[in-house]
Amino acid sequence: MNNLPPFVSSYLRDNVAQQFFPACLHADANGTLRAAFGDLDFYQLADLTAGMALEARLPWLIGIQLGRAPVVLPMLQMQSGNIANIHLLPTSDGSFYILLLDAKDQHANIQVHQQRTNEVQLLNNRLKKVLTELNQAQLELREKNQQIAQVSLLKSQFIASISHEFRTPLTSILGYTEMYQQQQMDQAAKDQMMKSINISALHVLSLVDNILDYARFEAGELCANAHSVLLERTFADIEAIFLPMAQEKGLAFNLTTAANMGTVLVDDVRLRQVVINLCANAIKYTEKGEVRLDVNLDDDLLHVTVTDTGAGIPVAAQQRIFQPFRRLDRDRLSKGAGLGLAISQQILEMLGGGLTLNSKPGVGSVFRVTVPITRLDQPAHHAHTEGTYHILIAEDDADARNIMQLYLQNEPYQVEFVSNGRAAVAFALNNNPDLVLMDMYMPLLDGISATAQLRSEGFVAPIIMLSAAVSLSDKTRAMHAGCSGYLQKPLTSDTLVAEIHQYLHPQNHD
Ligand code: ADP
Repeated sequence: MNNLPPFVSSYLRDNVAQQFFPACLHADANGTLRAAFGDLDFYQLADLTAGMALEARLPWLIGIQLGRAPVVLPMLQMQSGNIANIHLLPTSDGSFYILLLDAKDQHANIQVHQQRTNEVQLLNNRLKKVLTELNQAQLELREKNQQIAQVSLLKSQFIASISHEFRTPLTSILGYTEMYQQQQMDQAAKDQMMKSINISALHVLSLVDNILDYARFEAGELCANAHSVLLERTFADIEAIFLPMAQEKGLAFNLTTAANMGTVLVDDVRLRQVVINLCANAIKYTEKGEVRLDVNLDDDLLHVTVTDTGAGIPVAAQQRIFQPFRRLDRDRLSKGAGLGLAISQQILEMLGGGLTLNSKPGVGSVFRVTVPITRLDQPAHHAHTEGTYHILIAEDDADARNIMQLYLQNEPYQVEFVSNGRAAVAFALNNNPDLVLMDMYMPLLDGISATAQLRSEGFVAPIIMLSAAVSLSDKTRAMHAGCSGYLQKPLTSDTLVAEIHQYLHPQNHD
């Protein structure tokens, strides 16, 4: 290649000098400086003089082996702090030139480039993460959509089946009432009609209750309310409900309970609801044989088993039937909304218990319930000798107080009176009576709030609510507040004494 014109090469030289601040050191083979040229100031090397050993100032020279070819040490950080490209140019006599060219801009460019690369890498990683999240969200969305479709299908099925459920008993109620008005009938036929109307109305009521319970559970509104309960009585009541139903269908209904179950702390309303659901199913889905209700008690667990000799449940459906509105196809025509087991399971979960199923098609089904309880077998009043039972009566009406005193005067109880709920709470907590009769409507604090307060303070003796109201919801509210029993006013001597006896002398009440 021809030499560049002197004008151009001088321009280039000036340009390179301006941009790269070139400096040059000539060293002999031992690294001793012979001569120095160029912009030495820029690299803080202006103090170098011929004869100096260079390794002290340029430590990267140590150990460098030079051949014939030039060597480039790119972007080296100098002691001065400068970044430079170092060119080592050997000569034929063993000496060599050290050419220093400023690489600050190059270094900055590389750093910017590196930073950009890092940022791009980071963005890529983020993008990947977002894409993964997007995929995940899409999957979840698809799953949710499927669930929504499933729920909407179930809801449509539910509306269809629930309308049918309501229509059937309502049609029979309407038909019977019409016949009742129009026809001349003897008393026996009328009684039969009233009975059928009653059964249909009860069925509608239980449907409404179930649907409301389910909705309350969905809204998280139901909560457990434990109070002292005589288990013998709970299960005797349940037997009284199902014995005639079973007999009507030609089935045996057998209840066995452990001896001396005594009084326990449990949510009796919800316990009954579960056991009633299971017994009703057992009778509904059994055509011949028996339904058994077995009750046992550990220290802290109640075990209830409902066994039937019915059609059984196919293994494939044994989980599904615990979901709301799920029924076996074969049972589509029988009464039911498919909510009983779902509600029972939710109740038991709420109570800290469980529900399991063991069933063989053609042989029958066994539903096992466990519910945590606290035994109150030896409450304070058991330590009393007969004759010293201590009863607190909270009643604001003086006449009512006098009547109760009369009713109880021949009973071996020591009776104390207070006339408002606040006094009842204070008295009961200080004196620990064996039983409290609590009027529902009293000044300062009503009976329900007083009961709830006593239970929250750990008062475990039976509390019997007295109320003149006839509404069912008052009774439910009383039981939820923690009452053990409920008596409707006006009281008779017999009902009052019998109710008190049930709690203070349970051994005499089988
Ligand atoms: P329902 O009885 O109102 O349909 P459940 O939730 O109580 O609702 O029961 C769901 C389904 O489980 C019933 O429709 C029935 O098909 C089946 N099932 C429940 N209990 C039994 C039982 N003891 N024997 C046979 N099938 C049962």
